[in-house]
Amino acid sequence: MYERSYTIRRISELMPAITVSFSDEGAEVRTLLYDSRKLSDTLHGLFFALEGRRDGHQYIRDVYAGGVRNFVVADGKTDTTGFPGANFIVVKDTLEALQALAAYHRSQFAYPVIGITGSNGKTIVKEWLAQLLAPEYRIARSPKSYNSQIGVALSLWQLDGSYDLAIIEAGISKPGEMDALHAMIRPDIAVLTNIGPAHDDGFASRGDKIREKLRLFEGTAQAIYSPDHLQGIPMPSAGRHVTWGDGEVSLKVTGHELVDGHKCRIHAEYEGRPVQLTIPFTDAAARENAACCWTVMLAMGYGQAVITERMAMLQSVEMRLEMKRGINNCTVVDDSYSNDLSSLAIALDFLRQQQQHATRTLILSDIPGASGREEEVYSNVAKLLADSKVNRLVTIGAALLEQQGKFGFVKHEGFPDTAAFLASFDELAFHDETILLKGARKYAFERISQLLTAKLHDTVLETNLNAVEHNLNQYKSLLPKQVKLMAMVKAFSYGSGSFEVANLLQFNKVDYLAVAYADEGVELRKSGIRLPIMVMSPTAASFDALLAHELEPEIYSFSILDDFVRLLAGKRMSGYPIHIKVDTGMHRLGFGAGDIEQVISSLQETTAVKVQSVFSHLAAAGDTVHDAFTEKQLTAFHGFAERLREALDYPFIRHIANTAGIRRWPQAHLDMVRLGIGLYGAGSKRSTTLQLQQASTLKTIITQIRQVPAGESVGYSRSGMLTKDSTIATVNIGYADGYDRRFGNGVGHMVVRGEKVPTVGDICMDMAMLDISGVDAREGDEVIVFGDVDQLAKAIGTIPYELLTGISQRVKRVYHYG
Ligand SMILES: *Cc1c(COP(=O)(O)O)cnc(C)c1O
Repeated sequence: MYERSYTIRRISELMPAITVSFSDEGAEVRTLLYDSRKLSDTLHGLFFALEGRRDGHQYIRDVYAGGVRNFVVADGKTDTTGFPGANFIVVKDTLEALQALAAYHRSQFAYPVIGITGSNGKTIVKEWLAQLLAPEYRIARSPKSYNSQIGVALSLWQLDGSYDLAIIEAGISKPGEMDALHAMIRPDIAVLTNIGPAHDDGFASRGDKIREKLRLFEGTAQAIYSPDHLQGIPMPSAGRHVTWGDGEVSLKVTGHELVDGHKCRIHAEYEGRPVQLTIPFTDAAARENAACCWTVMLAMGYGQAVITERMAMLQSVEMRLEMKRGINNCTVVDDSYSNDLSSLAIALDFLRQQQQHATRTLILSDIPGASGREEEVYSNVAKLLADSKVNRLVTIGAALLEQQGKFGFVKHEGFPDTAAFLASFDELAFHDETILLKGARKYAFERISQLLTAKLHDTVLETNLNAVEHNLNQYKSLLPKQVKLMAMVKAFSYGSGSFEVANLLQFNKVDYLAVAYADEGVELRKSGIRLPIMVMSPTAASFDALLAHELEPEIYSFSILDDFVRLLAGKRMSGYPIHIKVDTGMHRLGFGAGDIEQVISSLQETTAVKVQSVFSHLAAAGDTVHDAFTEKQLTAFHGFAERLREALDYPFIRHIANTAGIRRWPQAHLDMVRLGIGLYGAGSKRSTTLQLQQASTLKTIITQIRQVPAGESVGYSRSGMLTKDSTIATVNIGYADGYDRRFGNGVGHMVVRGEKVPTVGDICMDMAMLDISGVDAREGDEVIVFGDVDQLAKAIGTIPYELLTGISQRVKRVYHYG
């Protein structure tokens, strides 16, 4: 028997608590929380204030306001008074406390736990083992790649009596980390996938890194690895060693060959007999991962016939949640690869964070492997749904239909199978909703996905939201703590799409957003963005919209100031936040230095507005040639801001630095900075201090390939004369999509199957041609049009800003967490 639930009192006994203060020591804890942006099951949640990149102690007020009443905090970091009804456990180290709780929880289960470590392939091996072992076992596994000091603890917390096998990933990046993971996981079977250069930086030598990883194997019953990866470092003693590779090993891999162009047959010897199997992949990493899984199955006593049969059906692991623009203004989150409780919980968590539509819909299939325990499994599904703000549920499958009584709290439409759903598709009338697709393979949800996503044209701009978050943090690392950050999301977030990016920024607690026009701000408000928003080019016609949506105007002239003040006074409004723009040399918008006294008297005459900030814009912050000019702008700005400060009896925010200013001008950070193109990973490639990631990739496909002999020409005006026999690919993108005509005739290049290929001939309106001679490509292949925009912009004499914002609105935007 194991403890099904814990009271807060009991939890305090399981960790080294220094003091406790309980309002209700019997409060039940079911869910562990550590991210203030992702609160669920708040009634039974326990928040650990962890001190990572963000210090969780700073968010305790927010988390309390979100309904959570149970907290684990570090000694001396938080005043625990003033939280009526809350329970606090005070410890020395909150991460250690979390890990102690996870270790205790895991210790209650006697079923086997497989621990996986290695440089690459951990997640794939875990997911493949889950596929391969599913017929015999009910498997708990780490969600996605939760393999860190926190992730492992959360993974183990999921264990309960409904499983009979667990597969847990263990990832480390510096010395000492594996001991903490080992103490929690205590694997019965430990697996080393491989050793590569990943995270070498954190260790004195490759050998040290291997030794650290091998600590997972201490005292395990079965150690599974390839001696080829150990570089002579001894494996700790384990009950039994089962190995693969090409020396003295259990499974001796002797060779492989390609089958039908897209499969690979692997030959090996096991216990002196030749054995073989075929996997539906051909790359070296897949062969290595397959050999690893093969060895695990042999170690677990599986016969070769079963292994061969299952390996042939391995499916690729699509781990990212893809967000796509759907029909009728829907947003589709496609997670149709698998359906089990742990991945459902993650996907629902992701869905809950989406603010763009009021309706959140889940299309869910029966959960495979639930037969015989429907009661329990679907009660758990109902519990997850109740916590997740889903307001429309569409189910596909007989079991869910039978269990429909459990879903009375949500609008429910049930279908026995996918065909019945597709037949009713039109009546379901999906519109203006965020739709999560969660279906097991056999329900063929890809057909539903196709119907729901507007497939007008195969060119997409993919934005990796993790990269945006990463870049934000890179720039934040340059700023002193007290400096605020305004994120520029004008022009559709530099082309990448407004609300998805704004939503991410809101979660990351930037201080301000800025857009160019009022209607952009209105769109953000409608999709649930609550951050303060500055509008840079307000017009008198847009004032009502500003007020209705709490948007704050940039005031750059006396006429706009007078008009705005008059409107507010007419409505008897006062104290409305405005942002005063000063022209210090850009000569675009703003009050000049000579206007200061008149600005002051206008502001002193009215109570309708309140100066929220005063700002200016640097014309050439990125350019060393103009550094003296930038200094002059700064001096002029300080003069204006100082004078205003003397005249007003309240403080305001001062800001002047854009992306380049943040990087090159620390003295210009002032009270706030305005981060634009840097968020998207472009515009400062020469930076050596920052490790930026490219956030957006423009992709298209090859629609046709043909052989064209030397002497023929390609495209309009016959400008693409061929001097040799060539293979020409036509791709689905042209200047109407934002692919500049200046990229024609070899000036631009795209990437096909990893190879850089030049354009040939003029760029057409909707198409372009590439010379792919020598590249083994096929029609339908993906083509990367823009990756590194900095370099491409230079090729046609423009700037990355123009390339990014010039991508036309007919190009579908897709988002993922990379
Ligand atoms: C666009 C803009 C920024 C951001 O510039 P980046 O170079 O993209 O960082 C900052 N301030 C103002 C006023 C802008 O218009």
